[in-house]
Amino acid sequence: MMRSDLFIDGKWISTAKREPIYDPSDHSIITEVAVAGDNEIDQAINAAAKALPTFSKTAPRVRAEILRKAFEIMIAEADDLARLVSRENGKVFSDARGEIIYAAEFFRWFSEEAVRVNGEFRHSPSGDKRILVTHQPVGVSLLITPWNFPAAMATRKIGPAIAAGCTVIVKPAMETPLTTLAITDILQRAGLPDGVVNVITPTPAGPAVSRILADPRVKNLSFTGSTQVGKLLLKQASERVIRTSMELGGNAPFIVLDDANIDEAVAGAMLAKLRNGGAACTAANRFYVSKEVAKSFTEKLTDAMSKVKMGPGLSEGAQLGASVSIKERDKIAELVDNSVKQGGKVALGGAKPAGPGAFYPPTVLTVAADNAILKEEIFGPVAVIVTVDSDEEAIRLANDTEYGLISYVYSGALDRAIRVAEAIESGMVAINRGVISDPAAPFGGYKESGLGREGGFDGIHEFLEKKYIGVTI
Ligand code: NAP
Repeated sequence: MMRSDLFIDGKWISTAKREPIYDPSDHSIITEVAVAGDNEIDQAINAAAKALPTFSKTAPRVRAEILRKAFEIMIAEADDLARLVSRENGKVFSDARGEIIYAAEFFRWFSEEAVRVNGEFRHSPSGDKRILVTHQPVGVSLLITPWNFPAAMATRKIGPAIAAGCTVIVKPAMETPLTTLAITDILQRAGLPDGVVNVITPTPAGPAVSRILADPRVKNLSFTGSTQVGKLLLKQASERVIRTSMELGGNAPFIVLDDANIDEAVAGAMLAKLRNGGAACTAANRFYVSKEVAKSFTEKLTDAMSKVKMGPGLSEGAQLGASVSIKERDKIAELVDNSVKQGGKVALGGAKPAGPGAFYPPTVLTVAADNAILKEEIFGPVAVIVTVDSDEEAIRLANDTEYGLISYVYSGALDRAIRVAEAIESGMVAINRGVISDPAAPFGGYKESGLGREGGFDGIHEFLEKKYIGVTI
């Protein structure tokens, strides 16, 4: 059964006002989702605040078991969930299924972390007291997620929140709310107490989010989305100095050094560029390729991209689906058109296809290092290649951005690759790999790509306050 109502205090709540959710591959309406007004927003805050005192004291093992059960249900129902992701987001089934497995793994990882929150007991250097450090749930948290990974961005926040003993209000992106509602249904079936997770779908987002952030009972904001909206929310969070975790935009460089194995670099580039149709904060955006191998890399990547089959996400054999909306697709087309006007050369693709779906074809551009497209997050299947003369030039250009989420380096020599990795200003570096996202590793960025880390050992601490207790003994 497809959930399309709000979820507040353990109940599914319908509203008179509803908003259509579209399948971007043909612009048909999948369903209409309930729109939360001020009344429902307040109910969600009330429910989260009411559930907090009991839930924050629930045994970690109990919280862990709920997450573990939710993980198991997600895996058992992975195909159905993947079909839903594919329909509302446009990505192909294999990408959607991969996302569901990745998303479920956050529930498993945080089920394991819930029972492993360590404190400290130390002697003070002067010997006059003992230093005790403990952790407590931060409290009611607002979780805001984007449309590009509707399952994984939700579980990457809900998992640690539950593990830590927090209660939450989730606001998914309005293009893709159905996946979050389906995951919430799973959490309910896994035995989550009422009021712990509340899901609201208001539109427009701005006033609703401001209302929640202004409520003194809300103590924490965990946001994944664009840097532009993240900056706006940081300002609002500063009003009450609430805790924030910000997973923002990226503009990943993909560096290929002259000693790289070119076939492996192309295989990695295909993953880093085309996973999720390029609509990933981790997507390789700018390819900086050593002059010795630039021709061969460009030819082989163009050849591999030209074989990619584009089509509706659930159609047989499709490898590249639609963008989430016509608006998003047109942004990609505009970036490419402007790049070409500035002298960018099209090696493949570069034109919108006709038809009702939000499709954009695999595209390869070769450009000069000052082409404007290199400054933007493309969020589509467009590989932009720049030839570089040296490792130093590759590093300098890679760092020439306000973003710093992830980078990719291909080299035949590990010491050389690590030297480059250490010089790049980004929170994550993939060496000779096209994907490194892992629930067990810290995910997050430098510079304007964000604040804080999700997943790994850090993720649960986004939902915990640290408390020091000093005592004379
Ligand atoms: P977005 O436009 O910033 O939206 C993200 C979320 O914020 C949505 O739920 C949206 O709600 C909400 N929102 C929009 N305007 C708001 C406002 N004024 N006040 C409060 N909330 C507001 O981003 P997106 O287009 O969905 O996602 C793409 C971006 O997310 C890219 O920049 C990508 O790099 C980034 N991202 C980062 C990570 C990471 O981990 N670093 C992961 C995935 C994506 P509505 O949908 O209702 O407008």
